[in-house]
Amino acid sequence: MNKLIPKLLALLYPPSRCPICRTSTEGLCIPCKDRILLGRLRKIPGAQGWSLFQYTEEVKGLLSAFKKNGSFVAGNEMATLIEEFLPKDLGSVDFITYAPSSQVSIKRLGFDHGEVLSKNLAKKLNVPVYDLFLPPKVEQKHLEMDERWKNIKGLRMKRGSWDPLKGKRGLLIDDVYTTGATVKTCLALLEKGGVSCVYLTFCAR
Ligand SMILES: [Zn+2]
Repeated sequence: MNKLIPKLLALLYPPSRCPICRTSTEGLCIPCKDRILLGRLRKIPGAQGWSLFQYTEEVKGLLSAFKKNGSFVAGNEMATLIEEFLPKDLGSVDFITYAPSSQVSIKRLGFDHGEVLSKNLAKKLNVPVYDLFLPPKVEQKHLEMDERWKNIKGLRMKRGSWDPLKGKRGLLIDDVYTTGATVKTCLALLEKGGVSCVYLTFCAR
């Protein structure tokens, strides 16, 4: 009977592990975090946006833990890293919004990763999150460069969703910057709606 109790406790409260290397620790272990920080990126040339980290093995591991396994720890660690390394010249923002995930991705993962990441970050920055875009049907990641631009052209904002945001300054969040097709289209739509936004992606390929 007594032997059962520690086993039950371990089931109820599994030991915390680094979401990347699975070492027993609270959140990210120091070596994994150090390796992520080696690949710092800055402003994306010619754009009103930043990407924080390079797409290294560790960053890939963190993204995969967050998206494939729905790891709460990984999502929270990503938001913590964003908050810690928020560019100084970003300025203050009134709200956070996120690049839309495709319907396929939301169905496969069981959650909208952009929404979860934005909510984690919004809690830390103490600003509201707005869900502004309709999810596209097709996922960007399986498309070639020119197809990505074609696919994203169909992107639309939710009707009237931007009305309360006119004259405010927002932060558009995305996880991976590849061609920039999604964030650039989102920014153009926001601008058309009279909402000024800067963007920040967790990493760039
Ligand atoms: Zn680790």
